[in-house]
Amino acid sequence: MLDLPPALLWPLAALLGLCLGSFLNVVIVRLPVMLMLGWRAEAREALELPEEESPRFNLLVPRSICPRCEAPIAWHDNLPVISWFKRRGRCAACATRISLQHPLVELAGAGLTLAVVALYGVTWQGLFILAACLALLALAVIDLRTQLLPDVVTLPLLWAGLLYQLLFQPLMLPSAVIGAMAGYLALWSVYWLFKLVTGKEGMGYGDFKLLAALGAWLGWQYLPLVLILSAGAGALVGILVQLALPRLRGAPMPFGPFLAISGWIALLVGEPLMAIYVGMTL
Ligand SMILES: [Zn+2]
Repeated sequence: MLDLPPALLWPLAALLGLCLGSFLNVVIVRLPVMLMLGWRAEAREALELPEEESPRFNLLVPRSICPRCEAPIAWHDNLPVISWFKRRGRCAACATRISLQHPLVELAGAGLTLAVVALYGVTWQGLFILAACLALLALAVIDLRTQLLPDVVTLPLLWAGLLYQLLFQPLMLPSAVIGAMAGYLALWSVYWLFKLVTGKEGMGYGDFKLLAALGAWLGWQYLPLVLILSAGAGALVGILVQLALPRLRGAPMPFGPFLAISGWIALLVGEPLMAIYVGMTL
């Protein structure tokens, strides 16, 4: 699609990735609040309570403020990564700690953008893959923060996966449709089995939808690999957390971030990994 000289391409890609990461931080912080406000309004309507007056709140309005002192954040304190380090992770006005999430998500955005450009170049296909990787990043951090995997992200991610196959590898479309169904059913069955045996809920419906979306992007052939990677990483992190922080024993651990990480791996280096995996199981 576009052929830039490397001296221009890589800095531009890194800069774009940082800015996309910065936008994802806004989505990660605001989307759950927007959903909560919406549910509250619906509940009040169902209970026939009078409508609440609330100030407009979406991804653009109001401007970014410090969560503690509510001082507006100046543009030069809102630059990706640099501002966080310049202010040593504190608000310029009241010195409240600003979460390390902000620079980490921005760096992850840059890393994913560079990886996609390296693998796909600046192409329409690369643009689709980048959008999927960034949606997975937003989902992973939202799940860590709130234990939610919002439908407004997981379901469009699923449709976009089917569209991706239709546009770029139409022969894969049947595998993708089966992948979406099998992804949902696989975790749905685990959920019910776990619930019948233990009486507890081990996962949420968001996890089923997220694996369905990955099935659409990757095809059913990749689902075992994705499940092995995410369950393995989840078990490992779970054990490490219990050893390092015994007070967290028994606390629920979100599964979404592990699905997202496996999704990145499968989307970006799936083919060589699949060759090793198939070689091992044959
Ligand atoms: Zn402040």
